[in-house]
Formats: sequence, structure tokens, C-alpha cells
Amino acid sequence: MRNKEKTIRGNTAQFQLTRQFSLLLGAVMLFFNLVFILLSIGFLYERIEDQADHVFEAIEKGHAAVSGWPSLIDAYVSADEESALRVEQADGHRYDSEEASTVFPALAAGRIIPLLEGVILSEEGVYFSKTEKINGDQVTVALNAEASVELAYGLLLISSLLNLAAVVIGSVLIYWRVGKWSRKLTLMAQEIAAIESGGSGELTVVREPVEIQAVAVSFNQLLKEQRETIAREKRFIADASHELRTPLAAIRGHVKLIQRRGTAHPEVIPSSLSFIDKESKRLEVLSNQLLDLEKQPINTMAQTLDVGQLIREVCEKQAVVSPQTIDYVIEEPLLMKGSKIDFQQIAQNLLENAAKYAPSDSTIYVRFCQKNTGIWLTVTDQGMGIPDDQKERIFDRFYRVENSRSSDIAGSGIGLSLVKQIADQYQAQISVTDNQPKGSVFAVCFPASQ
Ligand code: ADP
Repeated sequence: MRNKEKTIRGNTAQFQLTRQFSLLLGAVMLFFNLVFILLSIGFLYERIEDQADHVFEAIEKGHAAVSGWPSLIDAYVSADEESALRVEQADGHRYDSEEASTVFPALAAGRIIPLLEGVILSEEGVYFSKTEKINGDQVTVALNAEASVELAYGLLLISSLLNLAAVVIGSVLIYWRVGKWSRKLTLMAQEIAAIESGGSGELTVVREPVEIQAVAVSFNQLLKEQRETIAREKRFIADASHELRTPLAAIRGHVKLIQRRGTAHPEVIPSSLSFIDKESKRLEVLSNQLLDLEKQPINTMAQTLDVGQLIREVCEKQAVVSPQTIDYVIEEPLLMKGSKIDFQQIAQNLLENAAKYAPSDSTIYVRFCQKNTGIWLTVTDQGMGIPDDQKERIFDRFYRVENSRSSDIAGSGIGLSLVKQIADQYQAQISVTDNQPKGSVFAVCFPASQ
């Protein structure tokens, strides 16, 4: 359990970001520390080299003023008792300062430090040794560099401690700050979990960072669409099963009637069979319409068609089956991009409705033409009309105006929702208005760019 907790914490954005920032901070600090150390060493090296040069200068000046080496060496030694000086003359004479006898042998056995010419690590400590010729004599000075080394070491220690403190305090601050920031992500995850387990809320939209804001906005939008789809699907299933149940119940009723009374009263059979036939046809139409409704738009804009010709053909077919006169004026050719079946379904459904809801001795007017505002298809009938408060609703699935429901006119309330669905795919506007003196005008306006 504890192991799992550890793993989870290690996977959090807060932990991971802190780790990465701290590593980066540590690396940068280390780099600057190294640079600082190298610069300090260089500075101290130059300083001690200058010191050696000053000694040589002083000796050179003193040599001119003072009569011999011994007094000069003593004068030098009294100035710095840790350091040593050795003078070797061409004739073999050698003058040593007091420390020289211990310092120079130790230096001879000591270790030279690479890159730092003249710096020797010996038993007597760290020395800087340099040799120069002064008035023909070879003068070697060995300056004790212990103080410089201590200074460098002290600086290194202080800077390392400060840097370490900076990394530790920086990491704590980063952890705290990132924690505040990542709380928005944690909150988002909690809200998503609540929604997942059936909650009805949505994500809080934070003002910043904009990326999290954008995710929340998109998620909420998606959620809204998904909820609408689910609600629509639920309503659809409920409506569809209701619509299917009615004819099925009627069919079963008549089957039972034939089973019960068919033998004794065979006269009920023909009327029951005709009822079963009618209802089963209704079921067939209904199930085909349901299939059409759920059909995915496939390659809607596939080909360029002469839609004028298609609509004329639909009018001609309708004229054969409907008692009304069909008066059509159609612009041909009128080319549009799309699927043949879509245009046929729109025109056919509107014409079938006009024929269903208008008296048989009336005229149905169909117009199809291109105007400035777009490509217009209008179907006008002289039928019963549609009350204003129901004009919007007739495009809903399964919706039927009460008088058509109660009348004998067969229908399922799907045709217009199918027309609307197809029209939407083509970004076409569909509307219904009253015809004068009676009837309805259905108009579909396709965008001109079709
Ligand atoms: P259906 O005609 O199968 O009932 P529709 O979706 O095609 O289904 O139409 C929905 C409702 O709109 C119809 O039930 C009817 O009440 C009304 N309607 C459609 N077209 C007309 C029309 N031309 N005249 C009067 N009412 C209509």
C-alpha cells in the first residue's frame, strides 16, 4: 500500500516538475560554481606570480644598493619567514635563506600541479617557485602559497554551501509553487471522475493557464454535445418503441381474433387480414424510415448532379399516384454537389405530405430554381395547414399535429425530421409558412455555392 502511494506521488505533475526543475537548478549552480572556482584559482595564481615578480624586483634593486647577497637574503627572509630564497652564482657559490635548506629539498621531492606552472605540493606545504637570473646569478624564490590555498578553499566551501542551500530552498519553493499550479489539474481530474461516476456537473473553467482553460472549455462543449446526443437517443428509442408497439399490438389483436373466432366466423378473416396487411406495411415504412434516420451521411458532397432533373422525376412519379394536380416549374439543368438519394428523399417526402394532407381535387405547386439568395425548392399545397405553434415541432422525430394523428391519415412523424436531417447536412434552411387562402408552403433553401 505504502509502495503504491509512493509510486502515485512520484507520478504527479508536482513531483515530476519539481524534480526536473531542481535537477536543472542544481546543474546550473554546479556549472557556475565550477566557473567560479576556476576563476578564483586563476586570480590567486596571478596574485602569487605578481608577488614573486615583486620579490625579484626588490632583490634586483637591493642588489645594487647592498654590498653582498647574505645581507640581502636576510633582509628578504625577515620579511617573510615561511618563504625561501636561493642564489646560485656562476662560480659555484650558493647563498640560502634560513628556510631554504628545508624548503628546497622538500620542493624537489614534491608534486607539480598540472596547468599551474611553478606550483608545487610538498611536505612543507604548497609553494610557488620561480627562478630568474639577476646580474648573472640564478635566483630561485619559493613563496609559501598556503594562505592563497586556504582562501580558495574557504571560497569554495562558502560558495558550495550557498549553492546547496539555494538548490534545497529553491526545490522547496518550486514544489510549493508547482503544487499550487497543479492543484488546477488535480481539481480537473476530480471533477472528471465525478462526472464519470454519473455527476451532472461540468469542469470549472480556470482563467489561466490558457491551455487548461482551453481543455476545460472543449471538454465542457464535448460533454454538452454528448449529453444532448444521449438524451436524443433515449427519446428516440422511447418514441420508436412506442411507435412500433402500436401497429404490433394491432396485428397481434387481429391474429388472436382470427385464432379465436376464425373457424366459427370466417367472415372476420378478410377484414382482419386487410388490417394486418395495412399495419404491417406501416411497420415496414416505419422501420425503413428509422433506418434512413440513423444512416450516417456518407460522402455527401460526392458528385455533381442535375438536381433539377431529379426533382422533375420525383414530381412525375408523384403525379401518377396522387389524385391532386401537380404543377411543377423546374430549372433544368440545375447542378449541385451531393448524393442523388438525398435530393430525392427531400422532394419525395415534401410531395407525399402535400398529397397526404391536401384534398384530392386541389393542386400542389412545386418550384425549383436558383435565386440570388440560394437554390430554392418550394412545395405548396391547399391542404389543412399547420397551426403556428406547431410549425417548429413538426420537424421533431415522431411529432404529428393532433388533427393528423386523430384523422385516418397514415403517418409516423418521421418524414419531416428526415428532410431536416438531410437539409442540415447540406447547410440548407427549411421553413414552413401558410399558403393563402389555405394550405402550407414548405421551402428549402440550399446555399448558392452548392
Ligand atoms: P407523417 O406525415 O408521417 O406524420 P412527417 O414528419 O412527414 O410525418 O410530418 C409531421 C407532421 O407534420 C404530420 O403528422 C402532419 O401533422 C404535419 N404535416 C406535414 N406536412 C404537412 C402538410 N403538407 N400539410 C399539413 N400538415 C403537414
